[in-house]
Amino acid sequence: MIKINVAEIKKRLVGAKTFAFALEPAELEITPEEMALVGSVKLEGTISNVGDVLLLKAQLSGQVKRTCGRCLKEFTAAAEAEVVEKFYPAGAENIENDAFVYDSDVIEITEPLREGLLLAEPMQALCKPDCRGLCPVCGADLNKGDCGCDRLTVDPRLAALKQFIKN
Ligand SMILES: [Zn+2]
Ligand SMILES: [Zn+2]
Repeated sequence: MIKINVAEIKKRLVGAKTFAFALEPAELEITPEEMALVGSVKLEGTISNVGDVLLLKAQLSGQVKRTCGRCLKEFTAAAEAEVVEKFYPAGAENIENDAFVYDSDVIEITEPLREGLLLAEPMQALCKPDCRGLCPVCGADLNKGDCGCDRLTVDPRLAALKQFIKN
């Protein structure tokens, strides 16, 4: 759980507080199944009093193990997220849907950080933008060189195209 004491900035209208932490995945409540973080995650942020709400702005950066969607190789990449969230005092009027609420001098920022980092993960990871993937015929990693298979006849659409070019 990551908590920030906001007692001071609540009193001053233009108050802001900066903070920096190194967080373990468990502190972010991220399990290895959700995201295979490697080592700790760097957090830098500010909480500012912008009048009726407290505004959290945070930057997260760490390392994550991903599996390439084309060649299935596991690789380590940078995981980064930017989080901007409003925290409303409990009982305030016009609280936005799903907004975070605080009712003491301490706000709990684990949830927005956790969500931000998980949402920033790509749906399909690639070990490199031009990864050539695996040969559909023999399963060889085409990044390591061509295996010599005739892959054009595998896909019927491509086979038709081949026939067309031949004619
Ligand atoms: Zn790949
Ligand atoms: Zn092959």
